[in-house]
Amino acid sequence: MHMSHTIGQDQTQHPKILSGIVVRDARLKMLAEKFKSITLTPELAIVQVGNRADSTAYIGAKMAFAKKVGVTAHHIHIVESDDQEKHTQSRIIEEIKKNNENPNVRGIIVQLPLPAHVDRDLVINSIDPRKDIDGLTSTNMMYLGEGRPDAIIPATARGVKELLDFYQISVTGKKVLVVGRSMLVGKPTAQVLANLGAHITVAHSKTEDLVKETLAADIIVIAVGKPHLIRATHVKAGQIIVDIGMNREEKLLGDVDFDEVSKIIGSNGAITPVPGGVGPMTVLCLFENLADACRS
Ligand code: NAP
Repeated sequence: MHMSHTIGQDQTQHPKILSGIVVRDARLKMLAEKFKSITLTPELAIVQVGNRADSTAYIGAKMAFAKKVGVTAHHIHIVESDDQEKHTQSRIIEEIKKNNENPNVRGIIVQLPLPAHVDRDLVINSIDPRKDIDGLTSTNMMYLGEGRPDAIIPATARGVKELLDFYQISVTGKKVLVVGRSMLVGKPTAQVLANLGAHITVAHSKTEDLVKETLAADIIVIAVGKPHLIRATHVKAGQIIVDIGMNREEKLLGDVDFDEVSKIIGSNGAITPVPGGVGPMTVLCLFENLADACRS
């Protein structure tokens, strides 16, 4: 009979850490070479409206990454004043059209959220779908729903897929719970994983028993925006946890209580840290989308 002798031993069995930084750094050189092999220097246009600090920070990260991989990025900053408000939308669309027509520009990003008085769908759908490297136009959403290989997949959703790929975690036939159903994150992530043959359940704010759903899953992907929503009681040994959440408290917190959850999922489980998990994958995959857009 086997007895486990635990006295005096460290009982903590750490899960595997799914690091987006490791994947990003491994891919960076390859991506730079892809861009180098393209005859004209690919250009990227990033449109920002207003002065939200979080948007400015995200754009800064994209501009820095562009520099690293040899992409010329243009930051088009529209600062509005009250008397100009009614012109903002047409100014954004005008900028998008200019960049649609510029053959050197291969990717256009409109940094979200836009001010409430701007029609987001109208603005997004004025981007040429071939340059829509955020994958947010109705055309790209439809392609993703149809499982077309030429669909441009929203960067975070692609980031989750590629992170799991890198660590050789297959979702095919697995019970995958996606918590969150936003158009930007939850829905496209669920769709990408469904296209790969995962058995998908989507939970949201109206889900009656989240614990029951999380305990029934092999893989849990969370995109809610509530710090430490997922705790010890939500998980069991051996699960794979992908935390998309980014909550800016005194420090950056995920939607998962990493320490509590790590103890329960144990050495057969795997988990993404925040920061350093899905975040770096999102930026990487935005530029993977740009590289694909340059080829098409
Ligand atoms: P969102 O538009 O606010 O959507 C939140 C989703 O969570 C909604 O579908 C909502 O349900 C659901 N929800 C809210 N409370 C819930 C609860 N108690 N239990 C279960 N579901 C609940 O947010 P988002 O844009 O998808 O972003 C989600 C998080 O991801 C945020 O923290 C954001 O900062 C982060 N994010 C990270 C990256 C990255 O690169 N890591 C990229 C983008 C976003 P209803 O639909 O019923 O309202």
